[in-house]
Amino acid sequence: MNKRIIRMLVYFAIITIMANISPMVDLILHPEIPFFSLPHLLTGSITAAITIILLSLVIRYAYRMTNIANELNRVNKILREQSIRDSLTGLYNHRHFQEMLRHEFLLAKRHQADLTCMMLDLDHFKEVNDECGHPFGDLVLQGTAKQILIETRETDTLARYGGEEFAILLPNTDLAGALIIAERIRHRIEKFIHQNDTYAMRITISIGLATKNSHSPAKPEELLSYADQGLYTAKATGRNKVISYEEK
Ligand code: GH3
Ligand code: MG
Ligand code: MG
Repeated sequence: MNKRIIRMLVYFAIITIMANISPMVDLILHPEIPFFSLPHLLTGSITAAITIILLSLVIRYAYRMTNIANELNRVNKILREQSIRDSLTGLYNHRHFQEMLRHEFLLAKRHQADLTCMMLDLDHFKEVNDECGHPFGDLVLQGTAKQILIETRETDTLARYGGEEFAILLPNTDLAGALIIAERIRHRIEKFIHQNDTYAMRITISIGLATKNSHSPAKPEELLSYADQGLYTAKATGRNKVISYEEK
């Protein structure tokens, strides 16, 4: 509970105790005055009124503070979510991916588990913008993000790494498993038709990947760089393909 609310409750308790003690003391000091006399009835009524007023004030205050705390939590959650997301696709952003890369790498190292990093880049995407305009290019990026997301697991980290570049971290995924997933993504993107009222088109994607236990990177950045080298090879050797680091 909020510290200010606790403090208010303590004040309330002290005042209530004092307010209730004073008529008792009065009774002891002045036994000659009958209990149902006017002074006693007055003191009792005033005590009851003060207690009720204080209690309602404290309840209102606690209610308002709880509402404010809930609203702050809600806004904080939204802000935190916005700070780690890419606004166009809703995927994680570059910065969050870098954080997750370090985190997952340390985790995989500690548990001697596997970890795959994939870098994905749309092929000839500039032509989409040139031929159909930037808004359609945006639509293609959003569509691509959704299609990749379908092939990933909840424990994977999928990010928009740059303009038309995506990155995925796949914990507990070895090279053979990662190659199957990458091929599924490549195939899904190749088949998918991006369309609006004016345009409809397909686009392909090139994928590079590296796996911790197969390629033994010393640092997280090295794992990423290996995946990037795979992507470079995929681009250089014709695009629309999956290349793992060791296949260079
Ligand atoms: P490659 O096959 O070699 O990857 O060629 P490419 O055309 O995909 O790559 P290139 O780097 O030449 O062009 C990438 C283009 O992506 C250029 C840039 O204008 C576009 N782009 C980057 N960010 C966005 C975006 O948010 N929206 C849109 N519509 N286009 C973007
Ligand atoms: Mg590209
Ligand atoms: Mg690119």
